[in-house]
Amino acid sequence: MLPIEFKRFRRLRRSALLRDMVRETELNIKDLIYPLFATHGTGVKEEIASMPGVYHLSIDLLKREIEEISELGIPAVLLFGIPAVKDELSSEAYAENGIVQQAIRVVKEENPNLVVITDVCLCSYNPMGHCGVVHEGEILNDPSLELLAKTAVSHARAGADIVAPSDMMDGRVAAIRRSLDQENFTHVPVMSYSVKYASAFYGPFRDAAHSAPSFGDRKTYQMDPANVREALREAAADVEEGADFLMVKPALAYMDVIRRLKDTFDLPLVAYNVSAEYSMIKAAALNGWIDEKQIVLEMLTGMKRAGADLIITYHAKDVARWLGK
Ligand SMILES: [Zn+2]
Repeated sequence: MLPIEFKRFRRLRRSALLRDMVRETELNIKDLIYPLFATHGTGVKEEIASMPGVYHLSIDLLKREIEEISELGIPAVLLFGIPAVKDELSSEAYAENGIVQQAIRVVKEENPNLVVITDVCLCSYNPMGHCGVVHEGEILNDPSLELLAKTAVSHARAGADIVAPSDMMDGRVAAIRRSLDQENFTHVPVMSYSVKYASAFYGPFRDAAHSAPSFGDRKTYQMDPANVREALREAAADVEEGADFLMVKPALAYMDVIRRLKDTFDLPLVAYNVSAEYSMIKAAALNGWIDEKQIVLEMLTGMKRAGADLIITYHAKDVARWLGK
């Protein structure tokens, strides 16, 4: 006889099939969104030093990439652009023939079914490297809204399926929604970077997008990593302003924020598995210190378990290969 009564959890772990049957969270290829960086020129395929396997691609090479992504069954891409020139008004962000606008048309030509999401921001397009309009060292909120809305409309006009503002200016979801509706893009959803923290995990991305701020930091508009109640206020405002998706960025150090948003709101929730989260794993894997596949799958499953419906990740192509087999 046993001295005490206890539960036998191991009963449900006895075989692989049984474990499959009781698994609570499943990572799917359809959960993945793959970020792409489009650049001017032809034949350009430039690896980002701090992000092995991630490239700046010229429009002509984008076609091959889209073919590969489509064959892997990844449903969506998130487009970023590296402009030819940067100016104070961030003109190329909303130029009819800007880099992102060109990229959208090429992707749609290659695979009209692929969901094209575009990053809507100004930081790559002005020499100050800030996400809004800068005047005398201040990042101005309301004057930025007009340019962000203009950018979103120009992406929709080029064929974007979803626009994703990442600037963290107040009121930008409302401004973008209003402009899209006025221009008859009522069918284009807004995926808001609702809760975007002022994070050190963006370091490699800034190399990738050439968007490091030339002065100061982004703490007057991005959120303090210490705050979660504020995250709920940010997200609530986005819901009210008409957002169709909410996002938490970064993901790994903010799993609790993902869970809080999931429990509080009923919109689809996106987690952005950001550049340094990717770089750290790549670096460790290249040193032979970790099992890359197992670590990546565990990390992304964790994001889903925390509440993410969709995950933007630089690992998307690898994950699709692993899950596809
Ligand atoms: Zn930005």
